[in-house]
Amino acid sequence: LVRAVNVTKSFHHQEVLKGIDLEVDTGQVVCLLGPSGSGKTTFLRCVNQLEGIDGGRIWVDGDLIGYAERNGKLYKLKDKEIAAQRREIGMVFQRFNLFPHMTALENVAEAPVQVKGESRAAARHRAQELLDRVGLGDRGTAYPAQLSGGQQQRVAIARALAMQPKLMLFDEPTSALDPELVGEVLAVIKELAGEGMTMIVVTHEMSFAREVADTVVFMDGGVVVEAGPPSQVIGDPQHQRTKTFLTRLR
Ligand code: ATP
Repeated sequence: LVRAVNVTKSFHHQEVLKGIDLEVDTGQVVCLLGPSGSGKTTFLRCVNQLEGIDGGRIWVDGDLIGYAERNGKLYKLKDKEIAAQRREIGMVFQRFNLFPHMTALENVAEAPVQVKGESRAAARHRAQELLDRVGLGDRGTAYPAQLSGGQQQRVAIARALAMQPKLMLFDEPTSALDPELVGEVLAVIKELAGEGMTMIVVTHEMSFAREVADTVVFMDGGVVVEAGPPSQVIGDPQHQRTKTFLTRLR
Protein backbone atom coordinates (compact mmCIF):
# COMPACT_ATOMS: atom_id res chain seq x y z
CA LEU A 1 0.00 0.00 0.00
CA VAL A 2 2.90 2.36 0.74
CA ARG A 3 6.17 2.43 -1.13
CA ALA A 4 8.85 5.02 -0.48
CA VAL A 5 11.95 5.03 -2.64
CA ASN A 6 15.07 7.05 -1.90
CA VAL A 7 13.16 9.85 -0.15
CA THR A 8 15.27 12.85 0.74
CA LYS A 9 14.37 15.97 2.66
CA SER A 10 16.41 18.89 3.95
CA PHE A 11 15.58 21.78 6.22
CA HIS A 12 17.85 24.69 5.34
CA HIS A 13 21.19 22.96 4.90
CA GLN A 14 20.48 20.02 7.15
CA GLU A 15 19.59 16.80 5.35
CA VAL A 16 17.08 15.11 7.64
CA LEU A 17 16.07 12.23 5.35
CA LYS A 18 18.97 10.82 3.37
CA GLY A 19 17.31 8.34 1.05
CA ILE A 20 14.59 6.43 2.87
CA ASP A 21 13.25 3.21 1.35
CA LEU A 22 10.22 1.72 3.03
CA GLU A 23 7.33 -0.54 2.09
CA VAL A 24 4.10 -1.30 3.86
CA ASP A 25 1.78 -3.99 2.55
CA THR A 26 -1.97 -3.65 2.88
CA GLY A 27 -3.08 -4.67 6.36
CA GLN A 28 0.42 -4.49 7.77
CA VAL A 29 1.73 -2.56 10.75
CA VAL A 30 5.14 -0.97 10.49
CA CYS A 31 6.69 0.48 13.65
CA LEU A 32 9.32 3.16 13.16
CA LEU A 33 11.91 3.31 15.91
CA GLY A 34 14.90 5.52 16.35
CA PRO A 35 16.52 8.18 18.48
CA SER A 36 15.20 11.71 18.69
CA GLY A 37 16.06 13.67 15.56
CA SER A 38 16.49 10.62 13.36
CA GLY A 39 13.77 11.84 10.97
CA LYS A 40 10.81 9.63 11.93
CA THR A 41 8.31 12.47 12.31
CA THR A 42 9.57 14.16 9.17
CA PHE A 43 9.08 10.95 7.21
CA LEU A 44 5.46 10.60 8.38
CA ARG A 45 4.83 14.26 7.55
CA CYS A 46 6.19 13.66 4.05
CA VAL A 47 3.84 10.70 3.52
CA ASN A 48 0.94 12.93 4.54
CA GLN A 49 2.27 15.92 2.55
CA LEU A 50 2.59 18.16 5.56
CA GLU A 51 6.12 18.49 4.15
CA GLY A 52 7.23 18.29 0.56
CA ILE A 53 10.07 15.95 -0.34
CA ASP A 54 13.24 17.05 -2.16
CA GLY A 55 13.96 13.78 -3.90
CA GLY A 56 12.69 10.23 -4.31
CA ARG A 57 9.12 9.08 -4.59
CA ILE A 58 6.30 7.95 -2.35
CA TRP A 59 3.30 5.95 -3.57
CA VAL A 60 0.19 5.31 -1.52
CA ASP A 61 -2.21 2.78 -2.98
CA GLY A 62 -0.58 3.16 -6.38
CA ASP A 63 -0.81 6.97 -6.45
CA LEU A 64 2.36 8.98 -6.56
CA ILE A 65 2.17 11.40 -3.63
CA GLY A 66 2.24 15.10 -4.54
CA TYR A 67 3.04 14.58 -8.21
CA ALA A 68 1.74 13.26 -11.47
CA GLU A 69 4.14 11.49 -13.80
CA ARG A 70 3.77 12.00 -17.54
CA ASN A 71 6.30 10.93 -20.13
CA GLY A 72 8.90 10.43 -17.44
CA LYS A 73 8.46 13.96 -16.11
CA LEU A 74 7.04 14.94 -12.73
CA TYR A 75 4.38 17.60 -12.40
CA LYS A 76 3.35 18.97 -9.04
CA LEU A 77 -0.29 18.27 -8.22
CA LYS A 78 -2.74 21.10 -7.67
CA ASP A 79 -3.83 21.92 -4.13
CA LYS A 80 -7.18 20.26 -4.71
CA GLU A 81 -5.55 17.03 -5.86
CA ILE A 82 -3.18 17.10 -2.90
CA ALA A 83 -6.13 17.58 -0.56
CA ALA A 84 -7.84 14.57 -2.13
CA GLN A 85 -4.75 12.42 -1.51
CA ARG A 86 -4.45 13.64 2.05
CA ARG A 87 -8.05 12.69 2.80
CA GLU A 88 -7.12 9.05 2.30
CA ILE A 89 -4.56 9.16 5.09
CA GLY A 90 -5.39 9.54 8.77
CA MET A 91 -2.86 10.98 11.15
CA VAL A 92 -2.72 10.98 14.93
CA PHE A 93 -0.18 13.23 16.58
CA GLN A 94 1.67 13.19 19.87
CA ARG A 95 -0.63 15.91 21.18
CA PHE A 96 -4.29 15.27 20.68
CA ASN A 97 -5.16 18.71 19.22
CA LEU A 98 -8.90 18.25 19.29
CA PHE A 99 -11.09 21.28 18.68
CA PRO A 100 -11.54 22.54 22.27
CA HIS A 101 -14.90 24.21 21.69
CA MET A 102 -16.52 21.05 20.28
CA THR A 103 -17.74 17.95 22.08
CA ALA A 104 -16.09 14.60 21.49
CA LEU A 105 -18.90 13.62 19.12
CA GLU A 106 -18.68 16.90 17.20
CA ASN A 107 -14.92 16.51 16.88
CA VAL A 108 -15.39 13.14 15.22
CA ALA A 109 -18.32 14.22 13.01
CA GLU A 110 -16.82 17.50 11.80
CA ALA A 111 -14.50 16.48 8.96
CA PRO A 112 -16.93 14.17 7.13
CA VAL A 113 -19.44 17.05 7.07
CA GLN A 114 -16.99 19.82 6.16
CA VAL A 115 -14.70 17.91 3.84
CA LYS A 116 -16.80 15.14 2.39
CA GLY A 117 -20.14 16.91 2.46
CA GLU A 118 -21.86 14.14 4.41
CA SER A 119 -25.14 15.00 6.08
CA ARG A 120 -24.76 16.04 9.70
CA ALA A 121 -27.15 13.30 10.84
CA ALA A 122 -25.20 10.55 9.05
CA ALA A 123 -21.86 11.90 10.29
CA ARG A 124 -23.10 12.04 13.88
CA HIS A 125 -24.44 8.52 13.63
CA ARG A 126 -21.10 7.20 12.46
CA ALA A 127 -19.23 9.35 14.99
CA GLN A 128 -21.22 7.61 17.71
CA GLU A 129 -20.26 4.21 16.31
CA LEU A 130 -16.61 5.23 16.23
CA LEU A 131 -16.73 6.51 19.80
CA ASP A 132 -18.24 3.15 20.80
CA ARG A 133 -15.39 1.44 19.01
CA VAL A 134 -12.72 3.33 20.97
CA GLY A 135 -14.59 2.68 24.21
CA LEU A 136 -16.02 6.18 24.63
CA GLY A 137 -19.60 5.65 23.57
CA ASP A 138 -20.86 7.34 26.72
CA ARG A 139 -18.59 10.41 26.51
CA GLY A 140 -19.85 11.96 23.28
CA THR A 141 -21.15 15.10 24.95
CA ALA A 142 -17.93 15.78 26.87
CA TYR A 143 -15.57 18.56 25.81
CA PRO A 144 -11.86 17.76 25.41
CA ALA A 145 -10.97 19.57 28.65
CA GLN A 146 -13.31 17.21 30.52
CA LEU A 147 -11.52 14.12 29.20
CA SER A 148 -8.26 12.51 30.29
CA GLY A 149 -5.31 12.56 27.91
CA GLY A 150 -5.90 8.93 27.04
CA GLN A 151 -9.56 9.59 26.29
CA GLN A 152 -8.67 12.63 24.18
CA GLN A 153 -6.21 10.57 22.20
CA ARG A 154 -8.87 7.90 21.61
CA VAL A 155 -11.22 10.63 20.34
CA ALA A 156 -8.41 11.78 18.04
CA ILE A 157 -8.15 8.24 16.67
CA ALA A 158 -11.92 8.08 16.13
CA ARG A 159 -11.74 11.45 14.38
CA ALA A 160 -9.08 10.20 11.98
CA LEU A 161 -11.08 7.01 11.32
CA ALA A 162 -14.19 9.05 10.50
CA MET A 163 -12.62 9.92 7.15
CA GLN A 164 -12.33 6.21 6.36
CA PRO A 165 -8.63 6.39 5.56
CA LYS A 166 -6.72 3.71 3.68
CA LEU A 167 -3.70 4.30 5.86
CA MET A 168 -3.19 5.53 9.41
CA LEU A 169 -0.07 7.31 10.60
CA PHE A 170 0.62 7.54 14.32
CA ASP A 171 3.35 9.87 15.53
CA GLU A 172 4.32 8.83 19.06
CA PRO A 173 0.66 8.63 20.03
CA THR A 174 1.35 7.82 23.68
CA SER A 175 4.45 9.85 24.46
CA ALA A 176 2.51 12.82 25.89
CA LEU A 177 0.42 10.61 28.17
CA ASP A 178 0.76 9.75 31.83
CA PRO A 179 2.07 6.18 32.07
CA GLU A 180 -1.21 4.78 33.40
CA LEU A 181 -3.06 6.03 30.28
CA VAL A 182 -0.70 4.57 27.69
CA GLY A 183 -2.23 1.10 27.74
CA GLU A 184 -5.77 2.15 26.80
CA VAL A 185 -4.54 4.01 23.70
CA LEU A 186 -2.23 1.20 22.61
CA ALA A 187 -5.12 -1.25 23.07
CA VAL A 188 -7.24 0.75 20.60
CA ILE A 189 -4.40 0.87 18.07
CA LYS A 190 -3.79 -2.84 18.52
CA GLU A 191 -7.46 -3.56 17.90
CA LEU A 192 -7.36 -1.50 14.71
CA ALA A 193 -4.34 -3.49 13.59
CA GLY A 194 -6.26 -6.68 14.29
CA GLU A 195 -9.05 -5.43 12.04
CA GLY A 196 -6.58 -5.09 9.19
CA MET A 197 -5.91 -1.35 9.15
CA THR A 198 -2.63 -0.51 7.43
CA MET A 199 -0.51 1.69 9.65
CA ILE A 200 2.85 3.25 10.31
CA VAL A 201 3.45 3.88 14.00
CA VAL A 202 6.34 5.93 15.37
CA THR A 203 6.76 4.68 18.91
CA HIS A 204 9.15 4.07 21.75
CA GLU A 205 6.89 1.37 23.20
CA MET A 206 8.98 -1.72 22.56
CA SER A 207 6.48 -4.23 23.91
CA PHE A 208 3.84 -2.79 21.57
CA ALA A 209 6.22 -2.97 18.61
CA ARG A 210 7.16 -6.55 19.46
CA GLU A 211 3.58 -7.62 19.76
CA VAL A 212 1.83 -5.69 16.98
CA ALA A 213 4.37 -4.82 14.28
CA ASP A 214 4.80 -6.97 11.20
CA THR A 215 7.92 -4.99 10.42
CA VAL A 216 10.11 -2.83 12.60
CA VAL A 217 12.18 -0.15 10.92
CA PHE A 218 15.07 1.34 12.88
CA MET A 219 16.10 4.80 11.67
CA ASP A 220 19.10 6.83 12.72
CA GLY A 221 20.56 9.98 11.23
CA GLY A 222 18.07 10.10 8.36
CA VAL A 223 18.68 6.57 7.09
CA VAL A 224 17.07 3.18 7.64
CA VAL A 225 19.69 1.24 9.58
CA GLU A 226 17.79 -2.03 9.64
CA ALA A 227 14.32 -3.36 9.02
CA GLY A 228 12.65 -6.70 9.56
CA PRO A 229 10.32 -8.59 11.84
CA PRO A 230 10.41 -7.51 15.50
CA SER A 231 12.01 -10.79 16.57
CA GLN A 232 14.95 -9.82 14.39
CA VAL A 233 15.30 -6.04 14.77
CA ILE A 234 14.38 -5.85 18.47
CA GLY A 235 15.19 -9.42 19.48
CA ASP A 236 18.45 -9.88 17.61
CA PRO A 237 19.66 -6.56 16.12
CA GLN A 238 22.54 -6.81 13.70
CA HIS A 239 23.79 -3.23 13.75
CA GLN A 240 25.66 -1.57 16.56
CA ARG A 241 23.52 1.57 16.32
CA THR A 242 20.34 -0.47 16.84
CA LYS A 243 21.90 -2.34 19.76
CA THR A 244 23.00 0.91 21.42
CA PHE A 245 19.54 2.46 20.97
CA LEU A 246 17.75 -0.57 22.42
CA THR A 247 20.14 -0.78 25.36
CA ARG A 248 19.47 2.85 26.23
CA LEU A 249 15.73 2.26 26.26
CA ARG A 250 15.98 -0.56 28.74
P1 ATP B 1 11.60 12.94 17.72
O1 ATP B 1 11.55 11.55 18.24
O2 ATP B 1 12.34 13.87 18.63
O3 ATP B 1 10.31 13.50 17.23
P2 ATP B 1 12.31 12.40 14.99
O4 ATP B 1 13.11 11.19 14.71
O5 ATP B 1 10.86 12.33 14.75
O6 ATP B 1 12.58 12.87 16.45
P3 ATP B 1 12.27 14.68 13.31
O7 ATP B 1 11.26 15.37 14.17
O8 ATP B 1 11.83 14.16 12.02
O9 ATP B 1 12.96 13.52 14.12
O10 ATP B 1 13.45 15.70 13.11
C1 ATP B 1 14.62 15.43 12.39
C2 ATP B 1 15.48 16.68 12.32
O11 ATP B 1 14.82 17.65 11.49
C3 ATP B 1 15.71 17.37 13.63
O12 ATP B 1 17.07 17.75 13.67
C4 ATP B 1 14.81 18.55 13.59
O13 ATP B 1 15.35 19.63 14.33
C5 ATP B 1 14.75 18.89 12.12
N1 ATP B 1 13.46 19.52 11.73
C6 ATP B 1 12.25 18.93 11.79
N2 ATP B 1 11.29 19.76 11.34
C7 ATP B 1 11.91 20.92 10.98
C8 ATP B 1 11.47 22.17 10.41
N3 ATP B 1 10.18 22.39 10.13
N4 ATP B 1 12.40 23.11 10.18
C9 ATP B 1 13.70 22.89 10.46
N5 ATP B 1 14.18 21.74 10.98
C10 ATP B 1 13.31 20.76 11.23
